[in-house]
Amino acid sequence: PHATLLIPGPIEFDDEVLRSMSHYSQAHVAPAFVETFGETLSLLRQVVRSTDPNAQPYIINGSGTIGWDLVAANLVEAGEDALILTTGFFGDRFADCLTQYGAKVTKIAGEVGSVPSFDEIAKALSEKKYKIITATHVDTSTGVVFDLKTLVETVKKVSPETLVIADGVCSVAVEELAFDEWGLDGLVTAPQKAIGAPAGLSISFFSERAVKVAHSRKTPAASYFANMERWTPIMKNYEARKPSYFSTPGPQLVHALNTAFKQILARPIEERIQKHTQVSDKVKKAVTDMGLKIVASEPKNQSHAMTAIYLPDGIAATDLLPKLLAKGVIFAAGLHATIGAKYVRFGHMGVSAVNDERGDIDKALNALKASLEECGHKA
Ligand code: PMP
Repeated sequence: PHATLLIPGPIEFDDEVLRSMSHYSQAHVAPAFVETFGETLSLLRQVVRSTDPNAQPYIINGSGTIGWDLVAANLVEAGEDALILTTGFFGDRFADCLTQYGAKVTKIAGEVGSVPSFDEIAKALSEKKYKIITATHVDTSTGVVFDLKTLVETVKKVSPETLVIADGVCSVAVEELAFDEWGLDGLVTAPQKAIGAPAGLSISFFSERAVKVAHSRKTPAASYFANMERWTPIMKNYEARKPSYFSTPGPQLVHALNTAFKQILARPIEERIQKHTQVSDKVKKAVTDMGLKIVASEPKNQSHAMTAIYLPDGIAATDLLPKLLAKGVIFAAGLHATIGAKYVRFGHMGVSAVNDERGDIDKALNALKASLEECGHKA
């Protein structure tokens, strides 16, 4: 038995996912692995709800951050403009990554807990030609969810040639998402959050026009490894069940991801989203009933993956977290420059949300209530 990991990623693993990692060593070009990898790429299409054969999935070694490198090194050339919508720490980091590669970054930030307005976004897009616009679907530092569907609609109206890129690290497999239908150009994610597999991979998905932009640059891509022109043929080969090599994949991680994707797709994805919504509503009601305030300012800004919770005056995260741990529950400390020590983050996604038998959510809510009382807070 171990303390239940209820931070906003990495999350608890399902036993079957964990077991699929203990696979004997395979060559990255072995037919059985080529089959697993190819299938995993095809399953990713289903997870992001894309049926467009010209859209391209990528699964490469690394982590969520490498997805930003892919965007910054391939879709933008030095000196081109990028508009970054930020709702917390991870939006700011995405902006830093683009700046590192030479993009001219303009940021629009919401107040802590809220989102930038679409009027402001439309205005910015009408004033300058942006090569890309990025948004964090769920910012893991604040638990704020961004309305990507309306974002794409807004961009298509004002600046249809601008590529719309989403950071879905904390949203894929928990929030509603429809890559083709919404008209997204890029989505970067990682296995260790709602997908429910171990960290160590960068998972991304790009539209045909985004791939074309990456493959027709005036200047060479600004990264050797995070290089779409190098990876596109490799991914196409694997999906066509042909061995291919640019850099060695991690077969054990791919096996775990394959199992996690199959678990996600075993039931209609709408059902999974609905379950996460129910669990999230329950958590948000319970913490509000305890007299606590949620960082995401209003229901439409609140992610279903996690809840960032302000602590009562006089109680710091460093007081509360050890008391939770003593009850077998791990929450995360705050991760936002302005509100840092005043809040904690509760991740309620993946197996902890979909598998009621585990009892993770009730255990966490009971532990939170008891720990707050020990800290002197009366609900
Ligand atoms: N984007 C978001 C929204 C994240 O939550 C994270 C990680 N917490 C990242 C990007 C970076 O991912 P990684 O830590 O796997 O590099």
